[in-house]
Amino acid sequence: MTFSLHGIPVSKGIAIGRAVLISRAALEVSHHLVDVGQEEFEADRLLAAFKHVRQELETLRHALPKDAPQEMAAFLDVHGMILADPTLAEKPLKLIRTQRLNAAWALTTELNDLLEQFAEIEDPYLKERAHDIRQVAERVLKALHTQQKEGLAQSDFLAPSDIGVDSIIVAHDIAPHDMLRFKEYAFKGFVTDLGGRTSHTAIVARSMEIPAVVGARHSSEIIRHGDWLVLDGDRGVVVVSPSERLLEEYRSLQREELAESQKLQQIKYSATKTKDGVPIALFANIELPEDAKQVVDSGAVGVGLFRSEFLFMNRNEALPGEEQQYLEYRRVIELMHGLPVNIRTIDVGADKALGSGSDLSQTGTSPLGLRAIRWSLTEPEIFLTQLRAILRASAHGQARIMIPMLAHAKEINETLRLLEKAKTQLQQRGQLFNPNIQIGAMIEIPAAALVLPLFIRHFDFLSIGTNDLIQYTLAIDRADHAVAHLYDPYHPAVLNLLSNIIGQAKKADIPIAVCGEMAGDPDLTKLLLGMGLTDFSMHFSQLLLVKREILRADVSEIKKHIAAVLAAVEPEEQVSALAALAAT
Ligand code: PEP
Ligand code: MG
Repeated sequence: MTFSLHGIPVSKGIAIGRAVLISRAALEVSHHLVDVGQEEFEADRLLAAFKHVRQELETLRHALPKDAPQEMAAFLDVHGMILADPTLAEKPLKLIRTQRLNAAWALTTELNDLLEQFAEIEDPYLKERAHDIRQVAERVLKALHTQQKEGLAQSDFLAPSDIGVDSIIVAHDIAPHDMLRFKEYAFKGFVTDLGGRTSHTAIVARSMEIPAVVGARHSSEIIRHGDWLVLDGDRGVVVVSPSERLLEEYRSLQREELAESQKLQQIKYSATKTKDGVPIALFANIELPEDAKQVVDSGAVGVGLFRSEFLFMNRNEALPGEEQQYLEYRRVIELMHGLPVNIRTIDVGADKALGSGSDLSQTGTSPLGLRAIRWSLTEPEIFLTQLRAILRASAHGQARIMIPMLAHAKEINETLRLLEKAKTQLQQRGQLFNPNIQIGAMIEIPAAALVLPLFIRHFDFLSIGTNDLIQYTLAIDRADHAVAHLYDPYHPAVLNLLSNIIGQAKKADIPIAVCGEMAGDPDLTKLLLGMGLTDFSMHFSQLLLVKREILRADVSEIKKHIAAVLAAVEPEEQVSALAALAAT
């Protein structure tokens, strides 16, 4: 039977393929059968991992300071009790011995069964315990992984093996670092139950140029492994078991889209300026150094945002050191052949956690928590290492440093102090760098926008992170599908804030760009041009779509309508003001 599910379209295009259901646990562990005769060895590995975690918890319990909150001890006790219950190990041991499942697979199978049982429990206290069980199991998985690193077994951490070129991945949620891992695989698209339009998972999906729909609630429960799906990334629709007639309609839409994107190539080499001659600079956003290859080809005039944290994520070993980072940054700079590259310092936290092998993997999970520069300033050695690596790379081309999430004057001062310190360290070592390297600030917290002169005084350039600026202005968690309908770039508060930042920066003659997703949305191009924006940074797949809008725009005409758009607070008023602007 054909039916459809609806979610949030986050990456355009139409995909037709078969569903591959990925459980959360499957994202983290590999599935393989152990060799005949190795069952006891594998069972012993699991038992050793349990023992390791038991000892770990006991050590933690004894090391608790007397004044530690009571909940902390209770929490460790609950985990200790779960671990002591023989049933948690019993079934996985049986699965290893009778079905030869590897230890991590056996454990996650049991975990999934238990979580399903807990999902049916009404009692909220007991329901909460599911969370504890998951955490305990994750600790055991981590211990198994440590054994593997020490050479005791083959890898437990591999990507799913049944992803093929015709697959559409269906998952409850996919973390950005898992998306990154999927980048190595060819598949057609993905759909998740959770997520918002500017969640980092969605951003990575766009960078992979595959259709994606997030926030399609319950899709991972309703869709079955192997179902035929049509994923419509333009409209946010997932059609399950499409009829032959529907398939033909979508295939014809696919053909139209292909023809459209081929037509767009014609404007690739023309100068990027508006109809009335205003030159516009289009930069690209990248997540990984190799993305730079496509950037040059796309016609971008530089990298406006290199999200360097992706180098630090999805790693099972230690964080990359100075030398390794230096080589990666240098690679991007050299690939860009002298064009500028804004290397943003690590922005972890919120929906981006560091890799599971790092001791620092549990960085802030709240968007209001220890994120981005806040985190870097609490880890000055890691920050200094990164600054030295960027500085050294600056000897090979136009590297620039960009700092995320600044809000306080004292954060600015501390950042600049550490930058000077990194320079002194390199001088003492006799290593080359550009002493006049430019440093820029991202404006993505309303507080920063409201004290812009402070930023203008201290920085060489500014870049507006609209993804976060919207999140923090409207108090909407950008990764939370439950409030995704309220995440609105057109909110008058957002538009006025943006216009204000751009206006002040232009007046002070400091370079200002937008590098959030708004810059890559062709529906918003005229609006941003009207506010005076001339530098846009976006994923390169959006570049020609935005360029087409720029070539059609007449800034002097658009500007006549901007005041009315900014003054419109009632929805109907705004609709008609925007329609007048669009008609220019
Ligand atoms: C932003 O917030 O708009 C931005 C570009 O940074 P990120 O999406 O990585 O938070
Ligand atoms: Mg941001």
